[in-house]
Amino acid sequence: MTVVTRIAPSPTGDPHVGTAYVGLFNYVLAQKAGGRFIFRLEDTDRNRYNPDSEARIVSMLRWLGLTPDEGPEMGGDRGPYRQSERLDLYRQHAEMLLASGHAYRSFETTEDLEAMAREQKWHGRPQGYDGRGRSVPREEQERRASAGEAHVIRLRTPDDGETTFKDSVRGTIRWPNSELRDTVLLKRDGYPTYHLAVVVDDHLMGVTHVIRAEEWISSTALHIHLYRAFDWDLPLFVHLPLLRNPDKSKISKRKMNTSLESYRDQGILPEALLNYLATLGWSMPDGREFFSLKELVDTFILERLSAGEPVFDIKKLRHFNAKYLREILSLDELADRVEPHFRAAGYSWDDEDYFLDIIDVLRPRTETLNDFTEQARYFFDNDFPYQEEARKRLSSAQKYLEDLERQLSMLEFYDYDSVEDLLREYVQSQAVGMGKVLQPLRAALTGRTQAPGVSDLLTILGKQRVLQRIGRALNAINAGLPDDHPQKEKETSDKGERRAGATG
Ligand code: GLU
Repeated sequence: MTVVTRIAPSPTGDPHVGTAYVGLFNYVLAQKAGGRFIFRLEDTDRNRYNPDSEARIVSMLRWLGLTPDEGPEMGGDRGPYRQSERLDLYRQHAEMLLASGHAYRSFETTEDLEAMAREQKWHGRPQGYDGRGRSVPREEQERRASAGEAHVIRLRTPDDGETTFKDSVRGTIRWPNSELRDTVLLKRDGYPTYHLAVVVDDHLMGVTHVIRAEEWISSTALHIHLYRAFDWDLPLFVHLPLLRNPDKSKISKRKMNTSLESYRDQGILPEALLNYLATLGWSMPDGREFFSLKELVDTFILERLSAGEPVFDIKKLRHFNAKYLREILSLDELADRVEPHFRAAGYSWDDEDYFLDIIDVLRPRTETLNDFTEQARYFFDNDFPYQEEARKRLSSAQKYLEDLERQLSMLEFYDYDSVEDLLREYVQSQAVGMGKVLQPLRAALTGRTQAPGVSDLLTILGKQRVLQRIGRALNAINAGLPDDHPQKEKETSDKGERRAGATG
C-alpha cells in the first residue's frame, strides 16, 4: 500500500504557521514511507475565499521545502486538486447516498430552522437539526426538488449510541451520535460542505493517513458515518495538538504573529522554523533539539508524535534561528542567505572576502537575517550617522583618535595581530583603561557602541577605510559633533563626559 498524505488548507488569508506545522508531519510521513504528499485546496467557502491565498500558500510551502508531489500547480493523477473544480463529483456522491437511503433532501427554510431553534431553547432541549425531514417520503423529496424547491442534502445519522474511532496519537476516541444531527452534505447553492468534500476527496485521492489539527476531531465521527455509508475503507486518523498562544489558548493572530510570510520577512530561516515546529509535536529518540528535515524523515515514526499542548513561543523560535545562523549553517551557506538581503538594502561590494568577513564577524551577534542587514549598515556606508551613545564616546576622545590615526597610518604590515599589538601598546602608554580608547575608536569606525571587537573591525575594514573613518570622526568632533538636536546633544555630551571621567 502506498502511503498518501495530504494537506488541505482553505485559501482564506495569510498563510498560517499551523499550515506549516501540519504540512511538515504530512510531508515527513510520506517521505519516510516513500509515498505521496498531496496539496489540495479547500476553496468551497466562497464567502471567505481570498484569490491571492493559493499562490501565497504554495510559495510558503516551497520556501519551507515541503514540496507536494501532487497539487493544483504540478497536477497529478487524482486531480483536479481545487475543490471548486470538483463540484460535479460531490453532487454525484451526494446522489449516491440519496439512492442508497443514507441521505435525504431536506426542505426547511431559514425561518423554519430559526423557529425550531427557538422552540428547542424554550424547552431547554439540545440545539441542532432534529431530523424532521427524514420522514418526508423519497418520491415527495424528488418531486419537490424537480419543481425547483430550494433544499439541502443531509446525512442520516443515528440519534443514540456513540461512534468510536482510533487516533494514532490519542488512542480510541468516542463521540456521542446525538451530536451528529443529520449534518448537511450539500448546501442550497450546490456547494458541498467541508464534510462531504473532505471524505470524497480523501477517498478518491487514495489518502491513507489523515494527519490534521485536533480541531477536526469533532468532525471525524461524522466522517466515519460517511465512509460507512459509501462502504469505503477508513484512513488512519492522526489529530495533532493545536499550537497554543503563550496563555495556552488556541493560537490566534490576535495574540500572536501567525503569518508565515512575516517570519520569512523577518529573516527567520525555513529550516529553523521547521526544526522548531517539529520539536513542538515530536522528539528525537536521542533527545536532540536541533535536527534537519532529512534527519527527521530518517527517524520518523507516527507513534512518537505527542498529544501535548505545544506553545508557539517566538523567543524560542528566534533562539532556534540564532543557532542556525551562528553554528549550524556553514559560512558559505549563510552568505548565500544573507546576500539577497544585503542587495535589497542597496549594499554593494567588489571583494567577496570583505562580504564573507562581515558575515563571519556578525553571525555571533544575530538572531535573524534582518539583524545582519541592520548591523552591517556601516560596513557599506561611509556616511553612517553617529548614534547618541557613540557621540558621547567620541566627544572625549579627540587625542586618542589623533594618535591612533597617526600610528595606524604608519603601520607597514597591517593585519589582525599587528593592529592588536599596536592598540595594546598604545593603551599601556596612555595608562588608561582599554575601554577609554577602544570605545571611541569603535564609535568612530561604526557610529555605534554595539559592534564587533575593535581589532576585528580594524582588520575587516582595512587600513584605508579605517583612516578615512577616524578622519571623519575627528572632523565631526572639531565641528562640535552637530546633530539634529543641538540642545539635547549638548546635555547628553556633558553627561557623557562626566560619566567617562568618573569611570576613567
Ligand atoms: N480545510 C481544512 C483546514 O483548513 C482542512 C481540514 C482537514 O485537514 O481535514 O484546515
